[in-house]
Amino acid sequence: MVQSAALTSLVEHACREVPYYQQLFREHGLKPEHIRTVEDLPRIPSTSKADLLKCDPDALLSRSADRARLHYDCSSGSSGKPFGVHFDRCYIQNRNLRFLRGLWAAGYRPGKRLMLMTDRGDSKGRPWMNWKQVSVEMEAQEMLGTLRKFRPQVLYGFGTPLRNLIEFCKSSGEVWPADCRVVWTAETLDPCTRRHLESITGSPICDFYGMTEMGLVAWQCSAQQGYHLANESIVSELVPLSQQSADRQLILTNLTLYAMPLIRYETGDLAELMEADTCSCDSRLPRLRQVQGRVIDTLKFPDGHRISPYALINRLELVAGLNAFQVIQRREDHVDLTVQVPYDRRSAVDAQIRNILAEVIQPYASFDIHYTQRLDMNRPGKFRCVRSDLLTDSPCEPDSLS
Ligand SMILES: [Zn+2]
Repeated sequence: MVQSAALTSLVEHACREVPYYQQLFREHGLKPEHIRTVEDLPRIPSTSKADLLKCDPDALLSRSADRARLHYDCSSGSSGKPFGVHFDRCYIQNRNLRFLRGLWAAGYRPGKRLMLMTDRGDSKGRPWMNWKQVSVEMEAQEMLGTLRKFRPQVLYGFGTPLRNLIEFCKSSGEVWPADCRVVWTAETLDPCTRRHLESITGSPICDFYGMTEMGLVAWQCSAQQGYHLANESIVSELVPLSQQSADRQLILTNLTLYAMPLIRYETGDLAELMEADTCSCDSRLPRLRQVQGRVIDTLKFPDGHRISPYALINRLELVAGLNAFQVIQRREDHVDLTVQVPYDRRSAVDAQIRNILAEVIQPYASFDIHYTQRLDMNRPGKFRCVRSDLLTDSPCEPDSLS
């Protein structure tokens, strides 16, 4: 009900003020009055990042927005094309509150020491709030020193630098600070990585899912039973990739972004909804069971068969001793799996991994397994544990939230 009222108002605004939506509605014979409830939303065609990149950037902005006062942010995108999003002050307040709400669910309380490891690490943070920002570029050794000195009770950070820090802590023979909760963001937290890192930190890691265009979309609370959706601010739909496909793409409508409305925005991420029941944290917000990886990382084979990233992740997570892995498809008829396993565990995991690939990949393509002591995660862009290099038209990339 609240969502529908906010949606009606947003759609009326977009059709009155934003050339892109005026044209989209005109082309599809739609009028704002056709969209009265959330159930009417699928009548509006979805919009991908590629669609928006083709537009004149001015056509995406509200005519009534005070351009000089808009905040600009850039979403990187694995296709390499930057995509600019403009925010008004009201939206930024809503985005910040959503971020705080997610942090609260992860155990943060005002006054606690919070360390943010982001690409905005050069800013001074908010020392009066006990917040400290550090750059993701900082070396793990220096980062660990900063962590020891600042003693955060909550550490929020991008996936790869977090992993580097936690693994460095272990390899240096140090013990992870017992009262430091970890919040992971901006990269898929696959079950192997989670298990491996939690065995070092000794406490659950909360995963946040969001993107520059939307801010925080869904978060894990400390109960870790799915991802709570920010339902009051964002309408989430799960739409099948095709009529035959069981894979569903997450499509989002931000109800508070008026300067540059994003209505039925294709995230490029596959996800699965949880059945309606209440989380043990008592929140009634609907939940995603998991974010299943990127649509572009769906493996595609010569006969047209496709496998979602999670078909492999779900199987590989069952292999004990597998600390990290990466599946890369460079050709339709071949898949490479690189696994990070301690040397003395290789023979124990090899047969299990081979069986999984024989079952999941071999009917469609050949495969090779490569062993490494340490996966190379420093390739430009965010680490994806299942990566297809076949398709390059990336709709958008999960990005920084803070
Ligand atoms: Zn919960």
